[in-house]
Amino acid sequence: MTHRVTLIPGDGIGPELADAAVTVLEATGVSFEWHRVDAGERMLERHGTPLPDSVLDSIRRDRVALKGPITTPVGEGFRSVNVALRQALDLYANVRPARSLPGVESRYDDVDLVIVRENTEDLYAGIEHRVGADAAESIKIITRHASMRIARYAFEYAVANGRRKVTAVHKANIMKLSDGLFLECCRDVARDYEGRVAFEDRIVDNMCMQLVQKPDLYDVLVLPNLYGDIVSDLAAGLVGGLGVAPGANIGTEAAVFEPVHGSAPKYAGQDVANPTALILSGALMLRHLGETAAAERVESAVRGVIAEGVTVPRDLGGSAGTRAFAVAVAARLPAPVAAA
Ligand code: NAD
Repeated sequence: MTHRVTLIPGDGIGPELADAAVTVLEATGVSFEWHRVDAGERMLERHGTPLPDSVLDSIRRDRVALKGPITTPVGEGFRSVNVALRQALDLYANVRPARSLPGVESRYDDVDLVIVRENTEDLYAGIEHRVGADAAESIKIITRHASMRIARYAFEYAVANGRRKVTAVHKANIMKLSDGLFLECCRDVARDYEGRVAFEDRIVDNMCMQLVQKPDLYDVLVLPNLYGDIVSDLAAGLVGGLGVAPGANIGTEAAVFEPVHGSAPKYAGQDVANPTALILSGALMLRHLGETAAAERVESAVRGVIAEGVTVPRDLGGSAGTRAFAVAVAARLPAPVAAA
């Protein structure tokens, strides 16, 4: 079977990482039909919008996309294409696994966390305005609908992946109504899983400290959008940094796979960025497509190349370029098992 996948290379380091990920995914022997579309800064220059309708149309047709990072100007300019994509396609669950990699120097060697971040509302709803010259207001939206479905997703993920505990992360001591509703929904859903998946909650500031000190106490975390964004970078830092942290944006009609990191413009075009996060996002995509064996081969090849310590990307202490690392991973992929 050939899988139709929309490929969005993105800005900054995105295009070289996309080439690297395609090299590895093609080497699995799984058959892809790639539909390459552009979004981001270059499209703004050429077409007056960073997110042309053709990008959304292609993802809606293929139902699956692999995406590089896209730049968002800070404090001015166009709205985040990444946030707009997630909202337009209702990609409500942002799943970001953070797992230690053998050979990568970090504080702990046994971190295995999965961040499940609500992806459509909260302060990322983008409703903000100036109040006169000297004040500004951003509106935080938390709904029962979105909170119930992300909580349900986190528990279903835990069951499907043999995970033992879900921790809801919030600031309901201060935001009693908005985060209070999120927590209430998580507690409601947790009751349906009693005896199968444990449940607890943590206030987000305490959660950050606990993750830094005792990450082994945690398993699946479910968070509203903003805390999910921040805590997933923290979790990435526990396992070697943004260069190795993959992600999936899941909806009912489509799924977009992309790394946690951004477009790192200072490294663009230099063949120095680490493609691991996008390659591992490709492995998450393979699982979503039902190509579990190929996904496991990609993950084990990435781990093998890093553990071997010969072809290691620069952010992990080595000197391998983007392309060389991808070629090494592709070369290490065991041959696909022939169907009986
Ligand atoms: P960033 O993730 O691009 O870079 C932060 C730092 O992390 C870099 O300076 C670099 O040291 C390191 N890094 C990140 N990815 C790496 C890789 N693959 N290999 C090696 N090192 C890597 O974050 P930023 O500087 O805050 O953001 C840059 C741009 O990216 C901004 O415009 C931001 O809005 C955008 N962004 C996009 C996404 C997305 O597309 N989903 C996510 C985050 C940020």
